Parts: sequence; C-alpha cells; structure tokens
Amino acid sequence: MCSVDFMDNTLSMEEQAIADRIQELKAELGEDLLILGHHYQRDSIVMHADFLGDSFMLSQKAAESSAKYIVFCGVHFMAESADILTDNDQHVILPNLRAGCSMADMATLNEVEIAWKEILDQSGLHDPIDREHPEEPVNDGKAYLVPVTYMNSSADLKDFVGRHGGVVCTSSNAEGVLNWAFERAGPEGAVLFFPDQHLGRNTGLAMGIAEDRMPTWTPGMGAMGELKGSRIVLWHGFCSVHKRFTPQQIEDFRQEHPDGVVVVHPECPKATVELADTYGSTQYIRNYVAGLPSGSKVAIGTEINMVARLAREHPDKLVECLDDEICPCSTMYMIHPAYLMDVLERLVDGEIPNQIVVPEDVQAGSLMALNRMLAILK
Ligand code: SF4
Repeated sequence: MCSVDFMDNTLSMEEQAIADRIQELKAELGEDLLILGHHYQRDSIVMHADFLGDSFMLSQKAAESSAKYIVFCGVHFMAESADILTDNDQHVILPNLRAGCSMADMATLNEVEIAWKEILDQSGLHDPIDREHPEEPVNDGKAYLVPVTYMNSSADLKDFVGRHGGVVCTSSNAEGVLNWAFERAGPEGAVLFFPDQHLGRNTGLAMGIAEDRMPTWTPGMGAMGELKGSRIVLWHGFCSVHKRFTPQQIEDFRQEHPDGVVVVHPECPKATVELADTYGSTQYIRNYVAGLPSGSKVAIGTEINMVARLAREHPDKLVECLDDEICPCSTMYMIHPAYLMDVLERLVDGEIPNQIVVPEDVQAGSLMALNRMLAILK
C-alpha cells in the first residue's frame, strides 16, 4: 500500500506567499466571487474553496449561486456544466484551460451520433426524440433507447442527451437516474450509457441486471455482446485513475490487515468493486470513513489527494490508498495555486480570464439533461 504521508500539506515560503495573496484577492472580490473545489484537488487549492464537493454537489452549488465570477477548481466538463446552470451574466472560470478529463475525451459527439444510429438500427429500438414529450414515462407500448451520460462528458454530449429525452448522472445518483431512464425506455427498452463502462456496469449489476444484458460498445468495432434484449449498452470508456485498483491490491491489504475494510469508487472495474466491502461516490467514501469507529483500518480505491486528506482528517484511523503507486488525477493536478492566483489577479484588474462559455446552441439540450438530473433524488 502506498503511505499517504508523502502528501505533506505544509506550505513552503513561496506557497504561503501565494496562499496569502489569494486570500487578499478573495477578500477584494468579496461576494462577486465563488470558488468551487473538487475533492480531488490538492490541499493548497482546497483551502481557498468556498465549497468542497463532488461533481454533483458542486453543480448544485453553481446552480444556486448568484456570484458574478465562479472559479471552478476542477476539470473542464465541470466548468462547462456550471456555465450551463448559471445565468448569462455570471462568468465561469477554469484556472488552467488544459485541465480536461481523459475519460470525458473517450466519447466525442461524432462517435456517439454514429453509435446512436447503428444501435437503433441493430436493436430495433425507437428514438425518444420522436415522442412529443420524451421526458415523460413511456405509455405507448414501444421500446425506446434512452441516452444517459455521466457528468464526466462534454457539453455537446449533454446537449445530445437532453434533445433525445435523456439525462445526466453522477456517481452519487446513477441508480436513481437509471431507474428514471428505464421508465422512459419502457420494459423492453434500453439505455445507452456513456462514457464510463465501469460505473454503468457496476450500477446495473447492483440493480439486478444480468451482465449479458449489458453489451459494451466500442466506436469502430460495434457491440461486444447482444444488442437485442439488452438493458444497458455500455460505452467503452474508463477512468485511468480508478482503473488502477485491482482485486490483488485488496487481497494484499486484507492479508496485512485482516480486520481492515476496503471502500472503492464505482469507476473501478467490476472485479474490484465486487471484492471491496463497499463502494460509492466520493461523498459516500468520505461519509463511510467518517462513520468508522476509532482504530479502524481502511484502504480506499480513489484519487490520492482525497485519500491523503481523509487520512489527515482521521488521525485515529489507519487510512491507506489501495495502490502502491501514487495515483493523482493528472488533469485535476493541473490546477496549481499559481494559476488560481493569476485568474484572481486578472479579475481584480477587470479582465475575465479563462472563461468557459458553452455555445448557445448547445445550452438548451444540456440544460434539459442537467435539470432532469437535479430533479432526481438518489
Ligand atoms: S479522476 Fe478520472 S474521471 Fe475524474 S477527472 Fe480524473 S481522469 Fe477524469
């Protein structure tokens, strides 16, 4: 197991000077500014966030905010969602424009549009876009294909999903969202779930859907498995961070700590999720660790910044990362405090730097898909 001690959160003199300047700039911008921080951000960013959360919670905070400037310390798709959910006179800023998500990049609009047509042709399912109210539960006896995209996807895919009667999900509400989608697909219908195959498969299995009813779709190759009779068609994407957690790591931890427990994120592969004691979203993992009695030993399968923070928050428990190697999300890590300071300096100077603007023609469908998600409880 990797020790989390390596993630020293004490600041060097230079880092402290940056932190102090960020605080001054925050004070100067006052209520015009909201800083959102994802759990996978480093501590020297999180310390400045008004809210720390997962993508679901942060999208709610963005939607509720009236701040003029929303600085999103996360990755590109999160800032896009915040822009969609906020008013036109609010500005969403990503401190480093190169902070993307490798999983989100695994599904492009062009690929999904091609897959959509091919799956409809091969499965005999109908497109919800042909119904007058595709967002209503189906009552015409037909079987539909309903698109569901994970939050970790580009805005143009969310727009596609919204226009085709579908919905966005996060790792904290995937089951509720799939239930919603099945009511719109009909008892013989199916869901196209993208981009993360693991979240889709793990959630489907937890809902009692047999694995042979969840074929995987790879662009250029088509379906691995039978489309006819399928319940969830899984896009082939994955998270390069969570893919690293393996059953062997769990066995090694249990050998060392027979009384320990293991909690992993649902973006981990099926075999890892099945062997873990429990699994859930970043917020679920935080609550789970907090609820363990003092003296507990827990190994966690998720991003290292969050694991390291949990270890520091719970010094009375042994908190370890499942992976021997350090496993930060490389794109989340691109949000360095110097970038945050830079965008705040420029805001104070009257400039609007690194603004994320989702084009008007993409906003309508994306907003529908996001609002449908926000209306669905877990
Ligand atoms: S942890 Fe994985 S899914 Fe999350 S932003 Fe990083 S690459 Fe994307």
